[in-house]
Amino acid sequence: MATYRLRSTTAVYTPDIIAWAISGCDFPHDRDRLIGVISTTFPSVPKEAVAQLLTKVVTYTVEDETVVFSVEDRPEALPRLTCRKCAAHNPLVYFAPVTFDGAGTCICFDCAQARNWLDADGNLRPGVEL
Ligand SMILES: [Zn+2]
Repeated sequence: MATYRLRSTTAVYTPDIIAWAISGCDFPHDRDRLIGVISTTFPSVPKEAVAQLLTKVVTYTVEDETVVFSVEDRPEALPRLTCRKCAAHNPLVYFAPVTFDGAGTCICFDCAQARNWLDADGNLRPGVEL
């Protein structure tokens, strides 16, 4: 278990920025960009930990003006996935995972969207089978 503390500065009130990024992550097409923005803003925090915070896998508290959250060091329960179309590693949103012994393949959200397989909500269109 690793605990991270995202401190505010005179220019940035971290609790507001994190709340903004979390609500933005409700929109799948903005998710990777928001995770990238927050990861760049807090370079000492691993991108996977930021992803867990922004996608509400973990909760956080606010202490004074600091956002505090904890994540498991390694999510061993999750397989290592590679997109069958673009070779992206461990996409946050994916379809049709095929795994064996902790590794496998999938179709990432971006590839499914680029092929017009998704509806406006990000679900597979009726009739699309992967
Ligand atoms: Zn892909």
